Amino acid sequence: MEAILFGGIAALANVAGGFWVTWPRPVLRRSLLSHLMALGAGFLLAAVFLKVIPASLDLNLWSGRSVAPLVLVLVGYLLIQLFEHTVAPHFHFGEETHAEVCAERHVVWTAVGGVALHAFFDGVAIGAGFHVGHQLGVLIFIAIFLHKLPEGFTVASIMLASGCSLRAARWASVGVAAATLLGLALMSAAREVVPYALPLSAGVTLYVAASDLIPEVNRENRSASSLVVFLGVALYYMTEKALEAVGR
Ligand SMILES: [Zn+2]
Ligand SMILES: [Zn+2]
Repeated sequence: MEAILFGGIAALANVAGGFWVTWPRPVLRRSLLSHLMALGAGFLLAAVFLKVIPASLDLNLWSGRSVAPLVLVLVGYLLIQLFEHTVAPHFHFGEETHAEVCAERHVVWTAVGGVALHAFFDGVAIGAGFHVGHQLGVLIFIAIFLHKLPEGFTVASIMLASGCSLRAARWASVGVAAATLLGLALMSAAREVVPYALPLSAGVTLYVAASDLIPEVNRENRSASSLVVFLGVALYYMTEKALEAVGR
C-alpha cells in the first residue's frame, strides 16, 4: 500500500516535469534542472552502493559468496546502455536542443521508449525496496523522486524538439509516469521476483546516476554544479540517520 502511495508520488513528478517545460523563466529553469540532476545523482549513488546492493546480497537466495546478485546489477546497467544509447544513439538527460537530430521519428520514439523502460525499473526499485523493508523503500523512493522531475522534463522536451505539440509532449511524460506505475504494479503482483528485481533495478539506477545524470552535471563546466553531487550524498546520509532516529 505504502509502495503504491510513494510510487504514485514519483510518477506524478514525471507529469510535473512534463508541464515544467513550459515554465516561463528559462534561466531559473536551466540552473534548477541541473542542480536537481546533481542532487539526484549523489543521493542515488549513495543509496545504490550503501543500501540497495548490500540488501540484494543479504537476500537469502544465494549461498554466502555467490556473485549472482552482482551479475544482475551488471545486467541492469547494460540493459540501459543497450536501450538508451545503442538502440537510441541520441539520448541525453536535460533539455533537448538538437532539433536537427529529432526530425526523424524513430530517433524520438526510441529515445522516449528508452526512458520509459528505465522508468519501469524506477517503479520496480521502489516496489522491491518496500518489500524488503520500510526504510529501504523510503530511501529508494527519495533517490528516485529527485530525478523524476528532470526525467519528465527530458521526454517532453525531446517531443517538442521533434516538432510535436505541447499536448503530445505532456502525454509523453504521462506515458513515462505510467511505465513507473507498471513496474510498481508488477512488484506487488509478483513478490517472488523481488530478489531478482532488486539487484537488477540497482544496476539500472546506477546507470541513471553515473552515466545519464553525472555527464550532464559535468557538461555544465562549473564546480558549483559538481559540488551539488556531494550535497546529494550528504542529504542521503542525513536522511538515513533521520529514518534511524525515528526508528522505522
Ligand atoms: Zn540532444
Ligand atoms: Zn528514472
